[in-house]
Amino acid sequence: MPASLDPRPDDARDHDALDALLLDAARRAAAYRRGLAQRAVQPDASALAGLAAFDTPLPARGLTPADVLARLDAQGSPATVATTAGRYFGFVTGGVLPAALAAHWLATAWDQNSALATAAPATTRIEAVALRWLVELFGLPADTRGAFVTGATMANLSALAAARHRVLAQVGWDVERDGLIGAPPVQVIVGEEAHPTLLKGLGLLGFGRGRVQRVPVDAQGRMRTEALPPVDGPTLVCAQAGNVNTGASDPLDALADALHGTGAWLHVDGAFGLWAAASPRLRAQVAGLARADSWATDAHKWLNVPYDCGVVLLRDTAALQAAMSVSAAYLPGTPAAVAPAATPVGPSIDWPSPSTMTPELSRRGRGVDAWAALASLGRDGVVDLIERHVAQAQRLAAGLAAGGLRILNDVVLNQVLAAFGDAERTQAVIAAVQAEGRCWGGPTLWQGQPAMRLSVSDAATSDADIDLAVQSILRQAAAPATGA
Ligand SMILES: *Cc1c(COP(=O)(O)O)cnc(C)c1O
Repeated sequence: MPASLDPRPDDARDHDALDALLLDAARRAAAYRRGLAQRAVQPDASALAGLAAFDTPLPARGLTPADVLARLDAQGSPATVATTAGRYFGFVTGGVLPAALAAHWLATAWDQNSALATAAPATTRIEAVALRWLVELFGLPADTRGAFVTGATMANLSALAAARHRVLAQVGWDVERDGLIGAPPVQVIVGEEAHPTLLKGLGLLGFGRGRVQRVPVDAQGRMRTEALPPVDGPTLVCAQAGNVNTGASDPLDALADALHGTGAWLHVDGAFGLWAAASPRLRAQVAGLARADSWATDAHKWLNVPYDCGVVLLRDTAALQAAMSVSAAYLPGTPAAVAPAATPVGPSIDWPSPSTMTPELSRRGRGVDAWAALASLGRDGVVDLIERHVAQAQRLAAGLAAGGLRILNDVVLNQVLAAFGDAERTQAVIAAVQAEGRCWGGPTLWQGQPAMRLSVSDAATSDADIDLAVQSILRQAAAPATGA
């Protein structure tokens, strides 16, 4: 405990009210989670209609906090999608580990502005540890550093901002000061299957979403290295670990070989696929990973941390700091800032401020949630989680195939693509599965073929959940087509 200061006048009744409110929130949350097992994954029409209750004018006089919470729970909880109960297979949507959820609540009670180490020593120190653990888990070089951002979209953008700095600095151009107008051209290479948010990041950085060279891919969506264009001058190459449809990863070793000695910056978007590196059994899929310059991943997907939590990692910390640092007399680290006391009192805060490497200044210490998830799983628990999901994806695919469905991808990770026929039939089966509510899968188009896309990413998913999903999907696929 910190040394106690002079007791300050304090109203015990305020604390009693806060205790009651927080306990009520915890009770409601626990009841919500318990009730999900009895509920359809997708909210029904009456639950959605209930959301109209929120659409009132801003009340002139505020409600009590207890009423605010009661309203949220009464109309909000039933209209949620049950993404944490084991049978939601949409997009790549992790659930939430108990330790991560509880840590998120506690860290919110702390309300630390985790931009600056001095303003938030606890959260920034915990985030630094979580980053180190991730670097170790992924087998990245020991000098890799990074930051927690809102998701892989921002992690990609941050890494690419660092890359933009570095490749232009190498030809004597200061892009932070002088911008891209009139700058030496930068060659940007992406796979044909690059995630749309990566292209968005390139657009936001002034490279243009369309002014990229796209490398053709194979039947699993992997970049064909032999089709890589010649590299000349400042160049960014964006590879992917974990295709959102197939789960396949680009051949990173071959790409690193092809780029060796060119000075090109190799970035890896591994929003979920990077987690394959944590498993001795799966790591071959991302062999060569450590040879890249930067990496983006999510904790809110496969690590089952609450939204929103992404991670940017890179070795060239100076490049990211050049892109993200700001200075002002009142911010630490600025030369004009008042020098700290010559004799520090007690232990000093000597770890870096996250905001020197993030797009945001003020930010929540979202890495605390990731720390909690990692601390509660341990290294073995992370490996078990990832390997279990891959085995469950394979169980799902095998069950659907045994029922006569065609699986369009090699199930190497946690993604499964199931085909039902033409677009209309596919849409009808997917709608019927979603309406039945036992599980949830979404539509996709894979290399011209319509399919249901299923991702096993929720820590709560059991083998029994997989078998229920197989039964539900096969039942709807066998139902005669209705309508014209
Ligand atoms: C999900 C995903 C993204 C975007 O991540 P967000 O966390 O939603 O911002 C980027 N790339 C890949 C490969 C993804 O799967």
